[in-house]
Amino acid sequence: MAQAPTAEILRLVSTGAASSRTDLARLLGLARSTVSVRVQELLDAGLLAETGEGPSRGGRRPRVLRAAGGGGYVIGADLGAQHARVAAFDLSGERLHIDDYELDITTGPESSLATLAAIVSGIRDLLPGQQFLGLGLGLPGPVNFPGGRVEGASRMPGWHGYGVRDWLATRLEVPVAVDNDANVVALGEFHTRNRGPEHLVVVKAGTGVGCGVIANGVVHRGANGVSGDVSHVRVSAGGDIPCGCGNTGCLETIASGAALAQSVGLAHTADLVELANNADPTVTAAVRRAGGQLGEVLSTVVNFFNPHAVLLTGRLAAIEPFVAAVRGALYERCLPMATQNLEVSVASAGADAGSLGAGLLALHLVHSRKD
Ligand SMILES: [Zn+2]
Repeated sequence: MAQAPTAEILRLVSTGAASSRTDLARLLGLARSTVSVRVQELLDAGLLAETGEGPSRGGRRPRVLRAAGGGGYVIGADLGAQHARVAAFDLSGERLHIDDYELDITTGPESSLATLAAIVSGIRDLLPGQQFLGLGLGLPGPVNFPGGRVEGASRMPGWHGYGVRDWLATRLEVPVAVDNDANVVALGEFHTRNRGPEHLVVVKAGTGVGCGVIANGVVHRGANGVSGDVSHVRVSAGGDIPCGCGNTGCLETIASGAALAQSVGLAHTADLVELANNADPTVTAAVRRAGGQLGEVLSTVVNFFNPHAVLLTGRLAAIEPFVAAVRGALYERCLPMATQNLEVSVASAGADAGSLGAGLLALHLVHSRKD
C-alpha cells in the first residue's frame, strides 16, 4: 500500500509524521498541487479532517491535518479449517486488536460466515466510536478474485460456487475482499519484509499445501486465481493414492500435514509437529521425505520463476528437519543461476501473516475508493 500516494498520505498523517500539505509534499517528494488534490479527496471521503491553523513558518499559517474520527479501521480474518485468526488495523496499518477464534469451515458457508459476522461484531464493540470501513478475508481453498467466490475447494464441503464476498458485504454493509489463504499470507509476509518489489514464493505447509506468488511486489493470481497451486502437481511417490481433487498421486496426498499425520497414525497435524520436535525417529523420517517431495516440486517453480526467496509458513514450517529437507532438495535440483542468491527460510511474519495480508486487502479497498 506504500505505493499509492493516498495510502501514504493517510499513513503519514495518522502516524503524526506529517500534519500539513507542505509536510506531505516534502516527505513524498511530490508537487504541492498534487498533494492538495489527494488531500482534498481524502477530506471529501471523510478519511481526513482539518483543524485550526498550525504555527507559521514564514508564510501563511498552514491548516493542520489529522486522521478523521481516529481514522476508522479495517478487519482482516485468516480462516483455517478449525479456527480463525482475526485482527483490526487502523488506516496506517497499525494493529489495534488480534485474537484467535473457533470457527469450523466444514459446517458450510452459512454457519461459518454467520460465526465470522458475530466475531466482527464483537471486535466492533471493542472499538467504540471508530468507524469500521472494510473486511479482508483469506479462505483455505481456491477463490475467484475479485469476485470473492469459492471454487471447488476439496477441504470446504458445501462452499463450491458460494458468493462469500457478496454475502459478507450485504450483511456487514462495508466493502469486502476475499482471497485464497496462501495469497493473503504471501501479501502479509511481503509487507513485513519491506524490501521493495521482490519476487517471492510463499508456501503455506499446514494441514494442506498452499502457495502464494508475489511477482515484482504484487500478488500474482493468474487468469482464474489459481496461480501458485502446487498441491495438485503429480509426484512419483504419490502412486495411486486418491486425492480430494479427483486425481491420484498429487503432492498433497503425501506432503500435506493431513497426509503425513495419517501416514504415521496420528489424527492431527499439531500432534505430528509435537512428535517431530521431540525427535521421534519415525515421524522425523516421514517429515524429511515429505520436505524432499515438496522441495522437488518447488525446484521446478524456482527454475521457472527465479524468485528472490522461497518462504515457508504453516505448522510444518515449525519443524526444522522439514525446512532443511525442502532447502536441500532445492539446492540439489535447481540450476546454479536460480539458487545463487536464493533465500530459503521460514517466513518472518509467522502466524500473523494471514490476518495482516487480509487486513491489507481491506486497506487497499478503502484507500482505492478515491483513486
Ligand atoms: Zn489433487
